[in-house]
Amino acid sequence: MISPVMPTYARAPFEFERGEGSWLIATDGSKFLDFGAGIAVNALGHAHPKLVAALEAQARRVWHVSNLYEIPEQRRLAERLVDVTFADTVFFTNSGAEAMECCIKMARKYWAHKGEPTRNRIITFKDAFHGRTLATISAAGQEKLVDGFGPLLPGFDQVEVDDIEAVKAAIGPETAAIMIEPIQGEGGIRVVPGTYLRALRQLCDEHGLLLILDEIQCGMGRTGALFAHENAGIAPDIMGVAKGIGGGFPLGACLATEEAAAGMVAGTHGSTYGGNPLACAVGNAVVEEIADPEFLDEVKRKAGLLRQRLGALADEHGDIIAEIRGEGLMLGLRLNEGFVNGDFVAAARANGLLTVPAGANVVRILPPLNISDDDLAEGVSRLDTTCRAVKAQSGEAA
Ligand SMILES: *Cc1c(COP(=O)(O)O)cnc(C)c1O
Repeated sequence: MISPVMPTYARAPFEFERGEGSWLIATDGSKFLDFGAGIAVNALGHAHPKLVAALEAQARRVWHVSNLYEIPEQRRLAERLVDVTFADTVFFTNSGAEAMECCIKMARKYWAHKGEPTRNRIITFKDAFHGRTLATISAAGQEKLVDGFGPLLPGFDQVEVDDIEAVKAAIGPETAAIMIEPIQGEGGIRVVPGTYLRALRQLCDEHGLLLILDEIQCGMGRTGALFAHENAGIAPDIMGVAKGIGGGFPLGACLATEEAAAGMVAGTHGSTYGGNPLACAVGNAVVEEIADPEFLDEVKRKAGLLRQRLGALADEHGDIIAEIRGEGLMLGLRLNEGFVNGDFVAAARANGLLTVPAGANVVRILPPLNISDDDLAEGVSRLDTTCRAVKAQSGEAA
């Protein structure tokens, strides 16, 4: 019999009663160090006093009014984001996929508004992930995402990430935009080199195309920069943000330049919940914390520490760990053939450490950005224990 909750997830049999900082406490009292942060969402850990206070204070004032009216918290959050990014304007959503939908719709509208509605194709990349709506699975095009869900939305041309010539070849008279994650998250913590991002920017400039970045996972301080593209010294025209920006409250955003958003006039796009007072109250508190240069410096410092420790771990366990990759506190352990990332994640959990599997046999390490040095060290120690346990298991199996 089908479970009351539709069985689309392969869940681990754990439920948590509460969280404290970088720790989650299960209903049986056992404690887990959270190196997954709800898939890069709990950027400030669990039960952060400032976020709790922001949500509680807003909950007592007003929860929801709809976008029929002014929402001061939403305006404030938009102003903040405009202040600290390339963007001139922001549309708020409840999730990452909706943020990317807005990016896609905006790119099409941009050209339609300019009188070139046939310019509606978007170049995207293999192994990309942009969400689970029909448009975003069509954009990513991965078999495991699209299987059985056709007909897909037309208008996407997928190319290999490393191949700039393939991008050039894919640009045609109908191309509207290029859309990419600066670091592929679900695809396996694959960093797109700065040189490549700069080359894409240049191609967009030469051909008048819009550059859309999906910073839903790699943005909001994850890499130690507020947004990952800053590391490459470029700016997009349109960008999707979600995950970390709500710190656990469902919130996403589509940021754009004034030029790119030229067609997005009243009535063209909307969302009932998007940017509601509760979400934006929390979003303001999150952005205030994370956009602080001192906070970002701390992320960079901790990232250096973690990278060093993981490097030592990989040296020690070279039989299991093939490579450490990623940037900042968005890191991946790529496992050697013969070891399965899902098994490793389960073994880590048995050792009180939460991690997240990704493509390319990678184990994702995505701790809260405000994790303490001690907790970072503890996590690496638990990874070491996990490697030993995994080795012992594979020895038994052999
Ligand atoms: C998680 C994610 C999304 C989708 O976000 P949802 O909130 O699950 O809709 C899109 N793009 C990237 C890069 C992501 O990591």
